[in-house]
Amino acid sequence: MDKLLEIKDLHVSFDTYGGEVKAVRGVNLDVKKGETLAIVGESGSGKSVTSKAVMGLIPNPPGRIKQGEILFNGKDLTKLSDRKMQGVRGKDISMIFQDPMTSLNPTMTVGKQIMEGLIKHQKLSRSEARERTVKLLDLVGIPNPDKRVKQYPHQFSGGMRQRVVIAIALACNPMLLIADEPTTALDVTIQAQILDLMRDLQKQMSTSIILITHDLGVVANLAHRVAVMYGGKIIETGTVDEVFYKPKHPYTWGLLSSMPKLHGKSEELLAIPGSPPDLSNPPKGCPFAPRCPHAMQVCIEHMPDYTELTDTQKSACWLLDERAPKVEPPETIGV
Ligand code: SF4
Ligand code: MG
Repeated sequence: MDKLLEIKDLHVSFDTYGGEVKAVRGVNLDVKKGETLAIVGESGSGKSVTSKAVMGLIPNPPGRIKQGEILFNGKDLTKLSDRKMQGVRGKDISMIFQDPMTSLNPTMTVGKQIMEGLIKHQKLSRSEARERTVKLLDLVGIPNPDKRVKQYPHQFSGGMRQRVVIAIALACNPMLLIADEPTTALDVTIQAQILDLMRDLQKQMSTSIILITHDLGVVANLAHRVAVMYGGKIIETGTVDEVFYKPKHPYTWGLLSSMPKLHGKSEELLAIPGSPPDLSNPPKGCPFAPRCPHAMQVCIEHMPDYTELTDTQKSACWLLDERAPKVEPPETIGV
């Protein structure tokens, strides 16, 4: 598959009263055409900041891209002017946020909100835009789209509002869709419906998706590949099967242990003890070392390199060094 997006050595920092917060510290990632890449990790791991950098939505100040390239179809987005980036946003790349209520305008009918992008980016006439809007509402599974176009967001349920948000995001047939916790605010049955919808739409439109989530259940449902972030770095990547069934990084083990089991008896979730590193003063070595049950002296002093386990899986952990003691993953991660 061709690469649609290539992120190379991305560093993003925020200036705060407490000093420079290094939110993203050397991220390399690519997304192929038609692929769903999930970025998982706890809050503060840098996953949302990475996706905002792709959208050109890092507020400057206090934020800035310090280093790196974000190549979209070969063009470096970090070099584009704000105006050029506005043209990319909503047309080539669009975004679905967590809370549909804050991403919709309460004073405008949903029809108008979908039409806006179509008129601005696709240069459709009002009547063409209206016609396409009704089709889009139908596509995302909203009944009676003819009537619904004239209604306001508060007249929709949470799940239906998220469908509207998806319709807005898809209006201009973007090549890349970034979904940041797209189902977190919804209840479980609605979550499943929205995930099904996203999967179907992706098949139909072959859009590439970056899915940002802390919920590994969502990942299993939707993604092809997974990147696990911790402390502003990617610590493990692989296909969904590799990361779920053959994870090699102790942080990935912890994440999987804290996931509700599909078949297990235990409903108890094992949270990872401790808290994420302070990125205004990031650890010199492995960022997970203060919380890792297997940490060795070398972990505290030096960041491990990636070990390539397969063509698709790599992991940054000293346990993969041949001199390290053999450690088995805990039994709690069985899916
Ligand atoms: Fe744990 Fe060391 Fe691996 Fe980091 S490098 S995850 S501290 S074993
Ligand atoms: Mg976030």
